[in-house]
Amino acid sequence: MPTALITGITGQDGAYLSQLLLSKGYRVVGLLRRSASADVVGLRLHWLGIADQVELMDGNLTDLSSLIRIIQDVKPDEVYNLAAQSFVAASWQQPLLTGNVTGLSAVNVLEAVRIVNPAIRFYQASSSEMFGKIQDKVQSEKTPFYPRSPYAVAKLYAHWMTVNYRESFGLHASSGILFNHESPLRGIEFVTRKVTDGVARIKLGLAKSLALGNLDATRDWGHARDYVEAMWLMLRQDKPDDYVVATGRTTSIREFCRIAFGHVGLDYSAHVTTSAAFLRPAEVDVLLGDASKAKNALGWAARTSLEDMIAEMVEADLARHRAKLAG
Ligand code: NDP
Ligand code: GDP
Repeated sequence: MPTALITGITGQDGAYLSQLLLSKGYRVVGLLRRSASADVVGLRLHWLGIADQVELMDGNLTDLSSLIRIIQDVKPDEVYNLAAQSFVAASWQQPLLTGNVTGLSAVNVLEAVRIVNPAIRFYQASSSEMFGKIQDKVQSEKTPFYPRSPYAVAKLYAHWMTVNYRESFGLHASSGILFNHESPLRGIEFVTRKVTDGVARIKLGLAKSLALGNLDATRDWGHARDYVEAMWLMLRQDKPDDYVVATGRTTSIREFCRIAFGHVGLDYSAHVTTSAAFLRPAEVDVLLGDASKAKNALGWAARTSLEDMIAEMVEADLARHRAKLAG
């Protein structure tokens, strides 16, 4: 039975990746950072019904000794580094922490792999945010990077260190340059989940309006459940490499709102307001990915349409609020 170690197992992608790997017969172990609120840890794993099928080990991405100890104990065949301070907006408030966790600490994981067992296959969660102020209309592995936030700069450092460890030490280290991917398990502060949660609250009479920032930015949104498959496929290849993972369709926040409110028969323009509080010091206006390399080399393609994903997210948020109302 192969063993996978996932950092960030309590996050959106960690939960879906665990589900995928369990279905493929893996032993799944996750790095868990201690929380004073132990009762809310693992909510996403519970939501997917797999909390009792994964093992959790205490540690922190910033603590190299914990990573070495865990890798020595667990003896993973594959390590997926998904842990990060992952929210772009927060990265201007906490630029040093973001640099430390999202950037530098990826090298803790690479170092732990190199020191304990360099045969371990490694996946780094890189991001389309690295394209930032886009240099090509459609972004591929060949597009130059232009990061626009402390988060994106930190991700770029981790990305290049992954490339460097591959080239310097021959590690089987791959980076997935994943475009935005969402699901009912997306963090509530990200715009998609904020909108679907807002739609549910407004529909149920719990709120009247929803305040957002820039409605004109566009993103290439896919479903997290589809995207974690690409991660796993990258580690199946003989040679490590970098791959863009995207749908090839870009949609504005405004259009996302129109579809989400429309799903429950509401007109977004009657409810959505804009507030400068949600604008960013520097914006990424457009992201649109070309995933042909992943399609050709991995046989991967996005399966879930934006409309289906939005419907799933709105329905999940309606169910959550109805359950709370029912007490
Ligand atoms: P989430 O924010 O949902 O999850 C982040 C995870 O990192 C959580 O499990 C969190 O733990 C963990 N974490 C944060 N800091 C530490 C730390 N110091 N030590 C150990 N664990 C830590 O992110 P997603 O699942 O959405 O994304 C997964 C990865 O992919 C991230 O690296 C993200 O930046 C990247 N990415 C995501 C994209 C997306 O659209 N979702 C697009 C491209 C890249 P806790 O539960 O304790 O907070
Ligand atoms: P990101 O692409 O990783 O930054 O994902 P987000 O979901 O946080 O943001 C996507 C886009 O939505 C960005 O261009 C934001 O400026 C825009 N946006 C507009 N209003 C909001 C909002 O209220 N919250 C968030 N998080 N983003 C917003």
